Amino acid sequence: MARHLRRAPVDVTLVDRRNFHLFQPLLYQTATGGLSPGDIATPIQHVLRKHRNVRVVMDEVVHLDARARTLVTREGELPYDTLVLAAGVANHYLGRDDWTPLAPGLKSIEDAISIRRRILRAFEAAEMEADATQRAELLTFVVIGGGATGVELAGAVAELARYTLRREFRSIDPRSSRVMSVEASDRILGELAPSLSVRASQSLERLGVEVMTGTTARAIDAAGVDLEVGGHRERVGARTVLWAAGVRAAPLAHALQEATGCAVDGIGRICVEPNLSVASHPDIFVIGDMAHVAYRGKPIPCIAPAAIQQGKFVARVIADRLAGKTPPTPFRYFDKGSLATIGRSAAVGEFRGMRFWGFPSWLAWLFIHLIYLIEFENRILVLIQWVNMYVGRRRGARLITEGG
Ligand SMILES: Cc1cc2nc3c(=O)[nH]c(=O)nc-3n(C[C@H](O)[C@H](O)[C@H](O)COP(=O)(O)OP(=O)(O)OC[C@H]3O[C@@H](n4cnc5c(N)ncnc54)[C@H](O)[C@@H]3O)c2cc1C
Repeated sequence: MARHLRRAPVDVTLVDRRNFHLFQPLLYQTATGGLSPGDIATPIQHVLRKHRNVRVVMDEVVHLDARARTLVTREGELPYDTLVLAAGVANHYLGRDDWTPLAPGLKSIEDAISIRRRILRAFEAAEMEADATQRAELLTFVVIGGGATGVELAGAVAELARYTLRREFRSIDPRSSRVMSVEASDRILGELAPSLSVRASQSLERLGVEVMTGTTARAIDAAGVDLEVGGHRERVGARTVLWAAGVRAAPLAHALQEATGCAVDGIGRICVEPNLSVASHPDIFVIGDMAHVAYRGKPIPCIAPAAIQQGKFVARVIADRLAGKTPPTPFRYFDKGSLATIGRSAAVGEFRGMRFWGFPSWLAWLFIHLIYLIEFENRILVLIQWVNMYVGRRRGARLITEGG
């Protein structure tokens, strides 16, 4: 959004607790050693270096005073005339926050590094383990949640085990790993057409992933997960359990609700007005994943094109207001469809009722993700890694580290 205010007579302060912009759609590749953190993240100051009216501040907003038009941050206070909140969403454990350390979710670069560490350590530990049962537990990977993130993660873990690592250990055969994709509803990728869910399941199964639909995680501990399937409980010994089953609005949404009394939906997203402002607060806008905006009877999904379109729209509203013009209303969402990839050369996608799958969809997925990467340097870096992964099934970012 800050980019679209380039020509407006405004001073923009962009506050983020991180100093980098993260391209979340490729996080799963960092989590599975395919891409390095730096390939998918760019310093925000670099992204906005040519925008002379934008100041970037690394700080965390903890509270806001809507009447005094002031943000309260970890470092102090920041006054504003117009506020745009785009703090995204966080992992949601559906009432089981105690599962957070046991089944990490994938939202941040730290999550991706921690998941990568867990996965790679499991193979290392299995190599040293003499007991067959313990070894099997170490080589079992359970991904809970069969949406796009869960499907992409499960496919990438299976590829890592079946292809990338297959010749790299001496005591274990990584190809014997068990990878499970667990989904509570009756099909994976429930936001797509049922026929595409079937194709996605088949692609995952070809990679050796066990797709378990109609299956709910009931308990998780350090040694595995209790699953409920058709009224029966089943114990799966697994040292690596990953969470991709739910999100909720970032905590800042709660702070906004407390400050303004605005309405929120079931996952804490702010229910905004047709012009994306907060009811009775025309000077506060909420955009991106944190906003609940209705479209064809359903909320707009938490996807990047929606966030980008909303940012562009609000920039226009702000610029028009200042220019004394009538701003556009309401926000109109252009649905660019959905795509999810399953391993090296399979993907499924949908655009305006048309369905795509297989290799052509995968090529489309590659192209679209390259285009959306924010900096040209990152596009080149990612392209090189992808060629490496495609041709040699290599994943060169398989470092077990505490940091990046
Ligand atoms: C694993 C994964 C895969 C995805 N895959 C796809 C995909 O394939 N296609 C697609 O279209 N979309 C995908 N998405 C969704 C897409 O990334 C989001 O829709 C998009 O990033 C939303 O943008 P946003 O600006 O609302 O939030 P975000 O991009 O999450 O940005 C929020 C920013 O706010 C900052 N922040 C949060 N709280 C505070 C605070 N209190 N103070 C200061 N800063 C704060 C954060 O540091 C962050 O930089 C994926 C998301 C994930 C997690």
